[in-house]
Amino acid sequence: MRCNDHNREYRYDCPDCVVAAHRNGVKSRNGDMFIYGSYWGTYSRVLSMNHPEGIIEVDLTAVNPLSDLGWPKVARINIRAHRTSRSPRDMLSYALPDYTVERMHERFGVDLTERLLHEDFLPQIDWAKYRKVCNGGAALADILL
Ligand SMILES: [Zn+2]
Repeated sequence: MRCNDHNREYRYDCPDCVVAAHRNGVKSRNGDMFIYGSYWGTYSRVLSMNHPEGIIEVDLTAVNPLSDLGWPKVARINIRAHRTSRSPRDMLSYALPDYTVERMHERFGVDLTERLLHEDFLPQIDWAKYRKVCNGGAALADILL
């Protein structure tokens, strides 16, 4: 949280720092992109951009990161299929900032964070089950093949 105009450690409200943090952050070993949604202020990983069910994402951070309410849902590996077009203010990147990964470590521990960042969830999903139970997404455990 330093910066002082880029003598670094990233400052979240410095656009140049935010770009650098994404460039230098953690990549998904599954080759996926990350989206920062400007509306909810959340990160997700894109599992597919052109799946028959729509755009498929897995949530990585909670809607209000300072509240305890959203994190349990993310910890259940919340899979979302939707056809919502993104806001031009959303940010796509091939890496997640270190500070975001650190926050995930605090909330989820290393093992679950690894799964959320890297695991190939798509082949595990039963979409008929998903359509029955989805409500702002569905927990992976409830939609397994
Ligand atoms: Zn800066």
